[in-house]
Amino acid sequence: MEIRLYNSWSNKIETLRPIKSGHISMYVCGPTVYDYVHVGNLRPVVVFDVLRRFLEYMGYKVTYVSNYTDIDDKIIQKALSSQKNEREIADFFIKAYEEDVLALNSRLPTITPRVASFINEIIDYIGRLIEKGAAYVVDGEVFFNIASIQDYGHLSNMKTDELIIGARVEESFKKRSPLDFILWKKTTEGISFDSPWGKGRPGWHTECAVMINSLFKDKLIDIHGGGFDLKFPHHDNEIAQSMAINGTRLANVWMHNGFITLNDDKMSKSRGNIFSSKQALSEIGGPALRLMLLATHYRLPVNLTESFLENAKVEINKMTLAMRQVAVALQLAHFDVGGEYPLLLDSFLTALSDDLNTSNALTSINDLIKEINHELRVSHRDYPKLASCFFTLKMMFNILGLDIKFPILSTADRLLFVQYQQLKDAKDYQGSDTIRAQLIARGLL
Ligand SMILES: [Zn+2]
Repeated sequence: MEIRLYNSWSNKIETLRPIKSGHISMYVCGPTVYDYVHVGNLRPVVVFDVLRRFLEYMGYKVTYVSNYTDIDDKIIQKALSSQKNEREIADFFIKAYEEDVLALNSRLPTITPRVASFINEIIDYIGRLIEKGAAYVVDGEVFFNIASIQDYGHLSNMKTDELIIGARVEESFKKRSPLDFILWKKTTEGISFDSPWGKGRPGWHTECAVMINSLFKDKLIDIHGGGFDLKFPHHDNEIAQSMAINGTRLANVWMHNGFITLNDDKMSKSRGNIFSSKQALSEIGGPALRLMLLATHYRLPVNLTESFLENAKVEINKMTLAMRQVAVALQLAHFDVGGEYPLLLDSFLTALSDDLNTSNALTSINDLIKEINHELRVSHRDYPKLASCFFTLKMMFNILGLDIKFPILSTADRLLFVQYQQLKDAKDYQGSDTIRAQLIARGLL
């Protein structure tokens, strides 16, 4: 089955053609760890985790790298105001972030590099950009010269002339062009590092390009992802540096996830309408939040509303109930729920192969649940079919990373079910109701 993904570089859906057969190299820009993240930051955490799981299911070995920006003005300011050092601030918020990642049942990436561990590589990289004439030094700072490469701004499809007009507002007199961006910043407060250009810290756009080259040991990787808002300037600037040094666009496929709005309003701290990840996770729980993020195709915006959140909770309950009922029915019929049965994944995999269409994949899950519910109601159940549906559902949940559990019956549980059936057969409704209540309390009905 061909896997097709929308490539922001070409603005087309393209067939994924791995650079190394059987392998996928994937990099996603991670958070700047100066504060707790908001729910919008969790979208790539879920989207790219599903992509990784799906690719792995399809037989690829995926190396997934996502960085932590632990050197940044915001972290320096936080350190100064809280009388801690930058490392302590970063450690604290990385831990908080990873708790959220795991609460969403996303796996941590294969490697999560930090900028502070790549300073030597970054200095070396900037030195090579200067040698190539793609960067210049002014008063202890280094800037990338966008005139040194062709086609600057290709990814965001912005015209350089228009960008220059937009950038004039924040024009620095040190720069040759308003669009030239900083590679090494002179700093007077907070953490700083020695460099051939004086004490300072690296610019944001360089770290990702350097980590990609260093960790993948390659000039080009398969997939580079991130939020839609990173297209410009961050990703165009990563590409500009890679073009200057290696003559590559850094990644074959550039993927961008859409925004999250809160009641039709863009989330922003200044507007005070931030829905923090911790708040979201405690209010609706990891599985419902994950489901809600997957219910919309990753390139489209998600609008969080009360009813959307409620609906996600209802859907999770529906999935949990179906999983529980089919698992119990199979065990009572002495089917092994740990066993493997024929899979009915065609429509589900077709949906995910079509630019990771998780919303259509969820439709396949709903169709399967309807089939299970129907099969559970008929008088002569087709147990091999139910086993196949169960195994398929389990696999679908696994690929989407939906943590839907099902009970394993103990001997005591089985005895209760036998009693329950006997009392019902004897039309002892009071007795059967008592047992029913016990079965519900045990999470079996
Ligand atoms: Zn990045």
